[in-house]
This record gives sequence, C-alpha cells and structure tokens, in this order.
Amino acid sequence: MTITTLPKPPRVGLVSLGCPKALVDSERIMTKLRADGYDMSPDYAGADVVLVNTCGFLDSAKEESLEAIGEAIAENGRVVVTGCMGKEADLIRARFPSVLAVTGPQQYDEVVAAVHEAAPPVPNAYLDLIPAANLGPDLKLTPRHYSYVKISEGCNHRCAFCIIPSIRGDLISRRPDAILREAEKLVAAGTKELLVISQDTSAYGVDIRNDVRQWHGRDVRPHMTDLARELGMLRTPAGETPWVRLHYVYPYPHVDQVIPLMAEGLVLPYLDIPFQHASPKILRAMRRPANDAKVLERIRGWRRIAPDITIRSTFVVGFPGETDEDFHYLLEWLEEAQLDRVGAFRFEPVEGAAANALPDPVPEEVKEERYAQVMELTARISATKLAAKVGSTVDVLIDAVDSESGGATGRSKADAPEIDGEVHLRDAGHLQPGEFVRVAVEGSDEHDLFGVPVG
Ligand code: SF4
Repeated sequence: MTITTLPKPPRVGLVSLGCPKALVDSERIMTKLRADGYDMSPDYAGADVVLVNTCGFLDSAKEESLEAIGEAIAENGRVVVTGCMGKEADLIRARFPSVLAVTGPQQYDEVVAAVHEAAPPVPNAYLDLIPAANLGPDLKLTPRHYSYVKISEGCNHRCAFCIIPSIRGDLISRRPDAILREAEKLVAAGTKELLVISQDTSAYGVDIRNDVRQWHGRDVRPHMTDLARELGMLRTPAGETPWVRLHYVYPYPHVDQVIPLMAEGLVLPYLDIPFQHASPKILRAMRRPANDAKVLERIRGWRRIAPDITIRSTFVVGFPGETDEDFHYLLEWLEEAQLDRVGAFRFEPVEGAAANALPDPVPEEVKEERYAQVMELTARISATKLAAKVGSTVDVLIDAVDSESGGATGRSKADAPEIDGEVHLRDAGHLQPGEFVRVAVEGSDEHDLFGVPVG
C-alpha cells in the first residue's frame, strides 16, 4: 500500500513577553499562522523563523525584550520582532541589523506577512480549505472582489480518512463580532463575495455557545444562522448586497434554519456539503458526522423552501471495505439526489490517518473504474441541469475580462470560484472584474454556461 507523505509545513518559534494583552496578541498571531498551515516549534533549533513578541512598558521590560531578540538571533538567526517594542524599530535595527522585520503592537497582518516572507507556507491539498490556485505569497490571496472568511479552526470529528484534527486540533471558533468586523472591512475594500470556510461550518460556535456579542446594536450568537444573517446584511459602498456563500456545511438538523435565509436573499442559495458517501455502512466506517439516513428527504425539503438551491458535494470511492453493493447504493443515491455539482476522489491512504489500518482495501483498478462511473453519472446530471438554464437570465459576478476578444468570464450564484463551473460571456469587453451583471444564458455544456450581458 502506498501511503501519501505530506510535505513538512514550516515551523515558527515564539517568544512571548509582556502583559496578558500581549499574550492575546501572540495567540491571535499564532492562530492565524496555524490556519495558514504553519506548525509551532518548541525550540529554537527546529524553527524556520522565530517570532519575538516584545514588551516596552518599562525600561527593564525593554531590556528584557532586547535580550530575548539577541538570544533568538544567536540561537536561530531568522527573527521577526513584533509587539510594543516595534515602536522603537530604529533602536532594534541599530542593535540587531540582521532582524528580518519589525512590526508594532496589533499589526497582525504585517507580522503574519513578515513570517510568510521569511518562511513561505507550503500548499497542502489534504489540509487547505482554499483551492490551491488561490494560494500565493501575499496575505490577500484572492482577487479583490472575493474573499475567504475563516470562522473557526480545527475540528471535533475524527473521520477515519482525515488527519486535520491531529494537526489542527479540536474546533476553536472565532468570536462572531470579530468575524463580522473582518467581513465588513473586506466588503468596504471591494469584496463582492464572502466565502465562509472552516472545517465544519455548521459546528461553528459549539465551543463558545454562550459568548453572545453585540454587533451594530444587535445580539449575535456564535451560531451559523446568526452569522449568516448578519453577513447577508452587509452592504458594499455602492449599496449592493455582497454574495455570501457557505462552504463545508454538514447536514445537522439546524442547517434547515439557514435555508429560509437563502429564500430571503441574505445568503446565496448554495450549500457545499461534503457527503463523501451514501452507504450507511461506509459512512459508519468513515466515522462521518451527521450521518443521517434521511438526507435525501432533507434535500427535498430544502428544495421546497429554496427551489433554486445549488448543492455541491464531494465523494470518496474505493474506501476500504467498499463492496459492489455499497458502490451501487452510492450510484442510486446520486441519481436520486440530483446534486448540482460533484467532485469525486479515489481513496488514498494519508500518513497518520486511522483508515490506513482498515481491512479489505479496494484494488486500484476497481477504484479507477468506480471513479469513472461516478464522474460520468454526475457530469450527465450536471449537463442536464445546466441545459435547463438555457433561455433564462442569471446574475453573474465578473472574474476576468479580455478586452481584445470582447469576452469575459464570471460565475453565477451556483458557482464557487475554482471548484465549480463558469459563465463565459460574449460582447462583454466593457465590463470590469468584480462587477455584477445580468446575463441571458444562450448555451451550456457539462459544467459551464455561455451567454451575453443584458440590460
Ligand atoms: S469533519 Fe471529518 S473530514 Fe472534516 S475536518 Fe473534521 S475530521 Fe476531517
């Protein structure tokens, strides 16, 4: 059995000095770095870069900070300085010219950017929530008009094929007001689409259940529904409603409460639910959360409330122990569910995953065959669903314009960036990326639509 070995993430060492406020800053910086794929190093020797969060309150504290910087340089050599002493950058640089960067207190973006530059993160398909095409060296990883908003880190589940909980730990939710403040800033700066991500979006807030916060005079619970509603109430500087797209939602019962928000237009009628399989036996072996036999009924219920809802999902074929019967159960389920967008993966053992020890591995050629069958079936369903849109008018957010050919590409409400289809436009050279337009749909294929701007 070949086991996929993951690339080693860069490691950050931390020396945190000063008061509790400085400690909170350190935690916040480290949470962001962990979310970006960094590991922590408990010692100087194992660190690719050392972050020294300094205190400058008293002269004695300043001296202690300078000593800590000196020690980190002597022991490791690659040092980024942040915190209260950041106000004295000249003094620090004069004494330690080899310091890589100096940032001030609460300059989270700057210090994280400095660490990214000193030890660039390694994209990892098994851990990253953001499509690889959006990963880059800069902090703002996407075009200005869409942004990923991470609402929590880690996961309380222990799916047998997944290594995320062992690397990222249990679920830690961000405060709802902090998320909303970040989203508001992004929208003010030009974001037209907010992509809500986490390992398990529907579990958001279970760890901080009673931490109700005030947001623009209203109480906001740390709960997916409250958060989604408030995100849907943001407005761009031009008064437009930004698109809010929910990713990685598990079908817990309370997910039913966000469907009315879709019908009201506060959240896009789009759910990304990684079902991974349909056979109850395989779902149990995978130890999947919200493994409810009545999922098909729930999907029918959602479609009654929000008829234009797009459901995207991913499935794994060839999980250990998957028999022909389990696989045919999955095919029939897919035929019945008529999902709009489907991604499929052949099961692959990943270093550290519990599933590696399961008996009855599925031979590679059987995995290939099953994968091809799922792709063929789901492409056919997708093509039929897209063909039904020909002749209608859809809202499109423009991603790119080719002024020479006069063409443009964008996405409808049914298309998340990088993972779903696109809408290809003719006679659209006058448009700008980030613009919303109405489009008359003229044609379709298995994944994309073709059309022309109207109005
Ligand atoms: S829900 Fe399962 S697959 Fe998703 S992060 Fe948690 S353990 Fe991994």
